[in-house]
Parts: sequence; C-alpha cells; structure tokens
Amino acid sequence: MKHTFKFCPLCKCSLREILVDGCKRLVCQKCGWVNYKNPLPVVVCAVKDKEGKILIAKRNFAPGINKWALPGGFIESGENPEIACLRELEEETGIKGKIKKLVGIYAQRSRHYGSLLVIGYEITISKSSISLNNELKDAKFFAKETLLYIPFLSHRKIIKKVFENV
Ligand SMILES: [Zn+2]
Repeated sequence: MKHTFKFCPLCKCSLREILVDGCKRLVCQKCGWVNYKNPLPVVVCAVKDKEGKILIAKRNFAPGINKWALPGGFIESGENPEIACLRELEEETGIKGKIKKLVGIYAQRSRHYGSLLVIGYEITISKSSISLNNELKDAKFFAKETLLYIPFLSHRKIIKKVFENV
C-alpha cells in the first residue's frame, strides 16, 4: 500500500524534506535515514496456447476489480522473477507453464501501490485447463480479434508484442 512516513521508522525522530541525489526526499534529522522511493516489482504472464490465443483474467480484487488483465502478482523477497511468474500463474489459474522469454519491463503508476515495475514474460503451456482461485472471477484465452479492453497500458504493450511474436 502507498504510504508516506511521518517519523523515522528506525529512530522515530522527525523527518525533513531535503534534496538527496537531485530528488526531494524525507531524511531523518537524527540518524540520517533517507526515504528512498523505489518501484515495486510485479510479474505478469502472457500465456499463449497452441492456437496463438492469450490468457486474460478478470480480477476479483482491487486494483482493477472486474477489469481484465494478464495474470500475475508480486515477487516475494529473494524470489527469482521467473519462478514468481510461474508461481502466480499456477496459484491463480492452476496452469503449469514454462517461461518462453522475457517480453519487456515497464514502469507503471498505480493509484493503489504507487510506482510499479512490470516484468512481462511469455509463457507456453501443454494443457490449457483452468481452475481459478479467489483472486480471479474468470479467465479465458482470447484471439487478437476478440480481445477485451485491458486498462493497464503495460499489459497492453506486452500482449501486443506476444501476439506479434516480437
Ligand atoms: Zn532516524
């Protein structure tokens, strides 16, 4: 969740906004802790079936509840992004996939989470039977012509590249 610090999380002293490395950042007046703001990494999967269709899921939670998007989620601390991607896919849809390639990495703003770094992989599968968990309301494979609107620009860019095989 996006939040701002009122006090130093290390020593509880007051913070002051000063320029550090060319950016205004909150700095602790006592211990020197700096509130660096870094993006949160997210992995998303573009799963392509044998007919060349891509799996799109309808989200059951905010942000983007009831919106269609690529399946995915946050990387756990210390987790390899490729492992995280396959783990999220299996958790949400029951699908066991294989990484085909890294499609791209995109910066995205989220009202809910702040700055995100979206890492998109193309995934191949041998079986396309889906069993949804509670994070998703629906998930289907779509051809390029029948694709529904996806509100996340980074997902649209990843899907376009995977459809076009670039
Ligand atoms: Zn401090």
